[in-house]
Amino acid sequence: MKWLFRTIITLVLVLALGVAWLLAATFIGRRATLDRQEFDRIRVVAAGFSSAGIVPTRDQRVILIDAGGDDTGEAILGELSGMGLGPSAVAAILLTHGHSDHTAAVARFPDAQVMALGAEVPLVEGRAGSLGPVTRLFPVSPTGVKVTGVLRDGQVVTLGGARIRVYAVPGHTAGSAAFLADGVLFVGDSADVTTDGALQGAPWIFSDSQAENRASLVRLEQRLVADRADVTAIVPSHSGYTPGLAPLSEFARENQ
Ligand SMILES: [Zn+2]
Repeated sequence: MKWLFRTIITLVLVLALGVAWLLAATFIGRRATLDRQEFDRIRVVAAGFSSAGIVPTRDQRVILIDAGGDDTGEAILGELSGMGLGPSAVAAILLTHGHSDHTAAVARFPDAQVMALGAEVPLVEGRAGSLGPVTRLFPVSPTGVKVTGVLRDGQVVTLGGARIRVYAVPGHTAGSAAFLADGVLFVGDSADVTTDGALQGAPWIFSDSQAENRASLVRLEQRLVADRADVTAIVPSHSGYTPGLAPLSEFARENQ
């Protein structure tokens, strides 16, 4: 029986080392997640494991880009409080996608419209799971989050004078979106910024399709160039930002 015990222990150790290596390869080498970063009037705050964007409107309200991974919403509420605003000032929450580390605090803003691309609604609401090697293991159950505004690719959301353009970037999840607000391009988990400022695609272990994610980023770059979009910063949810469109253009050249 001793050999069996040893074999099991060895297998468990190899498996644990494999998982540790995968996680290290996924997370090491990225710029640190943004916290209390300002881009002109737009703020980005660390909220749990990911960051959320706060886009002020011209009528003393805000639009959130994602709701973070902390269900107390503490960091977002604190940032709003510093702006002299309460939770009811959140007019809308635009979700880059439905993973729970981006939707955790939605319930803290009951007056907000909750908006996501149509293809993402089942994941946001907990009626479907996502298909990444790791994310497919997550249980599927109702999240209590209801999408009240279904977004379309190419749509411009206008609220209180703020304008946010919606770009579908499927791959990390089926209905992943990027949002362009006043030159700040929020890409959710569809891309990360490395410590040397380069852009990389979504980590495959958490993504439905790495190939689709890469193709979506290439197409996103083409559309931004065609739209003559003035991109001043690219902001992922789990790493720091990189200024300008150039890192995305470089990524597109390498992945075409
Ligand atoms: Zn995600």
